[in-house]
Amino acid sequence: MLELSWRVRPGRECKYCGETRLAMMRRSKAALYGHMRLCRACTVRYSRQWPAENPDKVRENRRRAEKSETRRRSRNQWRAANPDKVSAQKARHRKANAEKVKSYLSEWKARNPDKSREYAQRYVARKVSATVEIFSDLDVFERDSYICYLCNEVTDISLPLYAPKRTILEHRVPLSRGGDHSMENCATACWECNSRKNAKTDTEYLALLAS
Ligand SMILES: [Zn+2]
Ligand SMILES: [Zn+2]
Repeated sequence: MLELSWRVRPGRECKYCGETRLAMMRRSKAALYGHMRLCRACTVRYSRQWPAENPDKVRENRRRAEKSETRRRSRNQWRAANPDKVSAQKARHRKANAEKVKSYLSEWKARNPDKSREYAQRYVARKVSATVEIFSDLDVFERDSYICYLCNEVTDISLPLYAPKRTILEHRVPLSRGGDHSMENCATACWECNSRKNAKTDTEYLALLAS
C-alpha cells in the first residue's frame, strides 16, 4: 500500500498535536501552502472542545447573531413599508456613484446571467404594465420537472446558455403580446424551442410545428 508520507514544511505542523503528514492536515485555500496549522483530528476534537470550554463566548456569538438577524429583519420591514423612500435613496446613490454603479452592474450581470435575465423580464413586464408576480425561474422549473412544455424533452439548467437543451423560462403569451409575468403564464422550455418560438404565442408555435 502507498504510504501517505508527504510532510508539511517546517513550522507548518499541527500546532496542537504536531502532526506533520500533509494528507492529514486541514485544507484551506486561504491558508499558507493550502493547509492550516491544524490537523483533521484536532479540528474534530477542538470543534467539540472549544464550545464546551467557552460557554460564554458561544452565548455571546449566538446573541450577536440574533441581534444582527433582528436588525436585518427590521431593516427589511422598514424597506417594505417605505418603498418611495427606498427608491429615492437608491436614485440618490446611483446619481452620486454613477461610474461605480455601472461597472458593478456589468460585473454582476456577468456573474449572474440567470438572475439578470429574470430581472430583465420583470422590468419588461412592468414596462408593458402586465401583472408581475414575484417568483423565481426555479419555482417554474421545479413545478414543470424541468421538462420543456413545447417539445416534452428534459432540459438541463447546468448546461451553458445557448446549449439546445438548456432550461429557459418561457412566457406562453409573450410579455410583448400582453402576457403576464405570472406562474400561470410561465413555463419551462429548452433554449432551442424558446429561440424558435420567439414572439409567437404557444398556440401559434404549436400550430406552426403541426403544419
Ligand atoms: Zn493535530
Ligand atoms: Zn423544447
